[in-house]
Parts: sequence; structure tokens; C-alpha cells
Amino acid sequence: MSESISTPDKPEPLPEAEDAKDLFSKFDPLIKQRQDLLDSGLEDPFGLVMERVLSPVTAVCNGRETILLGTYNYMGMTFDPDVIEAGKNALDNYGSGTTGSRVLNGTYVGHKDVEAALCEFYGMDHAMVFSTGYQANLGIISTIAGKGDYIVLDIDSHASIWDGCAMGNAEVVPFKHNDLEAMEKRLKRIPEGAGKLVVLEGVYSMLGDIAPLKEMIAIAKKHGAMVLVDEAHSMGFIGPNGRGVAEDQGVLDDVDFVIGTFSKSVGTVGGFCVSNHPKFEIMRLVCRPYVFTASLPPSVVATAATSIRKLMDAGDKREHLWENSKRLHKGLRDLGFELGTEEPQSAIIAVIMPDLERGAGMWEALLKEGLYVNLARPPATPAGMTLLRCSLCAEHSEEQVGQILTMFEAAGKAVGII
Ligand code: PMP
Repeated sequence: MSESISTPDKPEPLPEAEDAKDLFSKFDPLIKQRQDLLDSGLEDPFGLVMERVLSPVTAVCNGRETILLGTYNYMGMTFDPDVIEAGKNALDNYGSGTTGSRVLNGTYVGHKDVEAALCEFYGMDHAMVFSTGYQANLGIISTIAGKGDYIVLDIDSHASIWDGCAMGNAEVVPFKHNDLEAMEKRLKRIPEGAGKLVVLEGVYSMLGDIAPLKEMIAIAKKHGAMVLVDEAHSMGFIGPNGRGVAEDQGVLDDVDFVIGTFSKSVGTVGGFCVSNHPKFEIMRLVCRPYVFTASLPPSVVATAATSIRKLMDAGDKREHLWENSKRLHKGLRDLGFELGTEEPQSAIIAVIMPDLERGAGMWEALLKEGLYVNLARPPATPAGMTLLRCSLCAEHSEEQVGQILTMFEAAGKAVGII
């Protein structure tokens, strides 16, 4: 005799209050804008899938072999054989993950070793590794500047900096991008005796421009502020030892906290803060985005440590990357494109688009030519701009930069931008 299985009655839906509000309604304008773009027949610029990655500078996307000019793989470390071997060994010897916080069971020898590698790289006393660069900014800023303290920051700061400011509940005082006078004016207005933190970036990632850190740090110190510099886009590349813009401008010793990431030149994932502050180690107990999350997998810290130590001795790669940056900047300008900076200042060259529609059209035309760049748009970009952001890699050959320029010329003419 077979047993009959009764299906439970479907419960009646709960009655809804008349004034119930869909919390998603605030996204309606964005949903419409995105749908309009897709309805126009363009490929989704934010839905690209890399089917195979062939090298730091080439991948198969949408079935097509594509040159990558929109990654943060500035130093091309993702396929370095020593880096890969270190990761594989760590997987074999320590497993796939730590399953715990750094302050409980999540500190392995590899985490201590990558912090030692960072101290060597920067010549600093302390290094603290986070699970992402986003969390490093979130954690350090919110922990050192709290209620009643003042944070003076560039208006074009990265989202992780803004979120760190909000989380700590400090008074936030933005100033016009890279404007020394505006920055000093804000510092002068802070009540006497208040704690002050100035937050700057070495390279601003949307336009690829650098900060006048030497002058800014002098002003900050004159007004008794501590200084934090996010060197996410300069580490490994800018400065004689790749320590960043502060090193290049000779002011690294005056920076209280350097924030960085493993997700760009280092070629993996993770974030960090380095500092010479004598009390820095207490951060490990009081910084919530460090304490209340799992630590990085052993394979990640092993690849990061190997990569960081190799970046200490990468002068030739740095030189080649500068050549690439200069060649691309000049070539694009000669073709008639409008660029984010007068001169190349970093490995990022931003091409300014007249509007989102033509920006998306150009992005797709380039992809069809076999070139991937980043399409960047508000709110990530300053002044409502739509940008095609090109980020170069030390592994791009001179020939590839030539190919890239040919592709820009063809796409620019097809879309009517040049
Ligand atoms: N700071 C800056 C300036 C960045 O551009 C980024 C990421 N694009 C981060 C911090 C965050 O880095 P991560 O990817 O490691 O979270």
C-alpha cells in the first residue's frame, strides 16, 4: 500500500498595510536608465564575463581574445611563477581558509610573514593586514577618528574613505579636489583642541592625477593634524622603491598612516595599513573591521608576501610601465581624445566621453575591436563625468600599446567621438 503524501495548504499572504513602501523604489531611476541602455541594443558594460584569462594583459571575453586595459594589475604579478607557486604550496600545507578572525584562530605564520614583508617594503615599524583595502580604510579611519574629532578630506576621495568617516561618526570636512588653499581654510576653522585627521590619496583613480602631497602634508602638520594617505594606485609603481607618491615627493616619513591594497599591483586581494606610530599595535584589538571578520586565506597571504618582496626589486618594470603610460597618453591625445590629465601622472589614463550613451557606445566598439577598458560613471566619477578609464600594465608590450591606439582610432571614428 502506498502512502499518500499530502501537500500542505499554501499559506494565505499576509495582509499589507495601505501605506507600505517598497524600499527598492528609490532605485527606479537607475533601473530605468540601465534598461534604456540595454534596450538600445548595447552590450551590458557592467556585465562582462572573463571566460579565460590568458595572461595579466589578455583574456577571452564574450568568446573573443581581448587585450586588457582596464584592470589594476599594474605590475602584472598575477601570473608570476613564484607568486603562483607560493600560493599552491600554502594551499597544500595550510588548507583553503582560516575560518576565523585574526584575533582568534585566523593568524597563521603566513599572515605574520606578509606583515613582515610590508614592513620591509615600506621601511616602517608596523603593518596590519585586512581582508580588503576597503576594510582597511573603513577600519583605520573609523577607529582613529571618532565622535568629536575632525576629518579633513579631498572631495574626490574613494568610497571606502567616505564610509570610514561615516562609520566613525567624526565631523567630516571635505575640500575641493587637490586645492591647497581650500584645505588650509578648513583646517583653520577646526575648534582648538579637537583631534584632526587629514585624509589624502596618492593617485586619484578616476582621472589618474596625483596629489601635491608635499605641500598638503606640510599644511596638515602646521595645523597639528595627523595624516593618512591611501596609496592604493601607486604602490609598486610610483616612487624609487614603489612605495608611492609620498615616497616620490620625499615625504613618506611625515605620513602617519599609509593605506594600501593587495588587489592592484600586488595582484591578489587584501588590504593593509603601515605606520610608525608607537601605539599602533593596539589597533588590532579595537578596530572592528579587523576583529569581526575572517582573515585572508593562507594562499592569498602567501602570494601577497611573495609579490611584495618581488616588487621591492622591480625597477625595470616600473620604468617600462612609465614608458607605456607616456606612449598611450601621447597617442590618444594625438588622435584627438580629451584626457583627464595634461601629462601622464600615473598608470591610469582617463578618456573623457561626452555623455553616458556615447561612452557606452565607445566601450562596446572597443570591445568589438578586442580591447577592454573600464567604463566609469557617476557617482564614482567627479563632476558627473563619463570616462573610459585605461589602466596600463608593466606587461603590455610596446607593440600592444600600438595596437591599442589603432583600436581607439577605429572605435572613436565609428562612434563619432573623434
Ligand atoms: N582605496 C582606493 C583609492 C581604491 O581605488 C580602492 C579600490 N578600487 C580601494 C581603496 C579598495 O581596495 P580593495 O579592492 O582592496 O577593497
